[in-house]
Amino acid sequence: MIVSTLSRPNRKFKDTDYFSVKTETYFLMPFRFHRLNSQREVVVNEVGDHLVYPTGTVARIIGREIDKQLDSELYADLIAGMFISESPIPALIDVLATRYRTKKSFLDDFTNLHIFVITLRCEHTCHYCQVSRVTTDKDAFDMSKKHIDRGIDLMMESPNPFVTMEFQGGEALLAFDNIKYAVERTKRLAVSYNKKVTYVICTNLAVITMEILEYCKENGILLSTSLDGPGFIHNQNRRRPGNNSYELTVAGIEMANNVIEKDSISALMTATNLSLAHPIEIVEEYRARGFDSIFLRPISPYGFALSNERKNKYAMDDFLSFYKTALQHIIAYNLKGEFFREQYATIILKKILTPFPVGYVDLNSPAGAITNVILFNYDGNVYATDESRMLAESGDYTFRLGHLDSSSYEEIFYGERAMEIAEVMTNESLPGCSECAFQSYCGSDPVHNHATQGDIWGYRPTSTFCRKNMEIIRYLIELMDGSEEITKVFESWIR
Ligand code: SF4
Repeated sequence: MIVSTLSRPNRKFKDTDYFSVKTETYFLMPFRFHRLNSQREVVVNEVGDHLVYPTGTVARIIGREIDKQLDSELYADLIAGMFISESPIPALIDVLATRYRTKKSFLDDFTNLHIFVITLRCEHTCHYCQVSRVTTDKDAFDMSKKHIDRGIDLMMESPNPFVTMEFQGGEALLAFDNIKYAVERTKRLAVSYNKKVTYVICTNLAVITMEILEYCKENGILLSTSLDGPGFIHNQNRRRPGNNSYELTVAGIEMANNVIEKDSISALMTATNLSLAHPIEIVEEYRARGFDSIFLRPISPYGFALSNERKNKYAMDDFLSFYKTALQHIIAYNLKGEFFREQYATIILKKILTPFPVGYVDLNSPAGAITNVILFNYDGNVYATDESRMLAESGDYTFRLGHLDSSSYEEIFYGERAMEIAEVMTNESLPGCSECAFQSYCGSDPVHNHATQGDIWGYRPTSTFCRKNMEIIRYLIELMDGSEEITKVFESWIR
């Protein structure tokens, strides 16, 4: 068969003249762009500086149509932000490099957060619980002293002079004796290893006592609890005998506020289907409890949470509507002079508006898994993140890095599994993310990719992680672009 060469696409390289840069124009520096809405678009450089312009400006920048005289202000802003340069390599390129290193300096000291799942026992039966919960057989579901010791030893091996030791469950306070044992041993070793340790207990507060609070106060231990909203939401989500989880949590928060420092207790909410209809009531509950912030979180779509789809499964866009309504409500308070912030927005705003690193484990590139967080499970298994052990509880051991009985520090943190995960930890090299304008504000989450899409690379067009972050980042920039007052509110949140 004869194929006409005329019908083939022309694959010939263009002449070098085509690619040469006219000397009278400028050079493009690396930047990415995103359409915010039909009127506005944002350009973001390698270190996260952003500029918002009318739609069509990016095409003009790329087409070398920005005129130094006619568009003098725009031209100056693009030069100052190193979006364009008058020489192939700008004179201040080292400044850009330093700023890039600063943004990534959360990596300098390696792992900070060491999670100890001190027990799997719990007296709650929350329908979105990510892990199994067991009320009996203490020996089988509490972390053994041998494993606590080994976990502490590994934590002391971390190159990071500042480490956080977080006790999780189940309900961690059911194993309070083991927590005390772990804290006392860590205190002794921290002196010889010259480590500053922050202690955190994650607790539903149902079994808190004055004795426990006094111990927390003495040792500067922080408490992190769950508060899903007013009683009719919290008690639906977080079941326990007597259906009084809300009452116990609120009483526990009050007790804690009276005994330990006010800032020593924080709360997290998880949005279920029921929550999505009540954004205002949830924000009001946090204000009523004396908190000056709230962290609006969707449910983690894996583990046992999936076994109750009616209560826990919803479209990410439904969460985003909930999130925006709550955020608008919060902003309105701030505009009236009351300081109250949303924590996820605050994390992203720090990335957008400051040159500093933000070491939030769920929104980092490289991902927070291993580099920032490690988890020692009650049974001695070691996992890359908290979410990894949730997967393991439903039989998926993809992110198991080793065992406290047998694995060395090197085998856990630099072993074969850790290296495989490391390949997909940087969004700079992930398909979709590598061209995304919001890359420096976002992160990568191999555990989420694996759990929701079946492979650790993930597929951005259908990723709920991507959908959530892209829309929240776009929305925050759009809000700042539309209102100087809101920009001032956001600036107050990051100070
Ligand atoms: S996950 Fe989505 S929003 Fe985040 S960097 Fe990747 S493409 Fe951008």
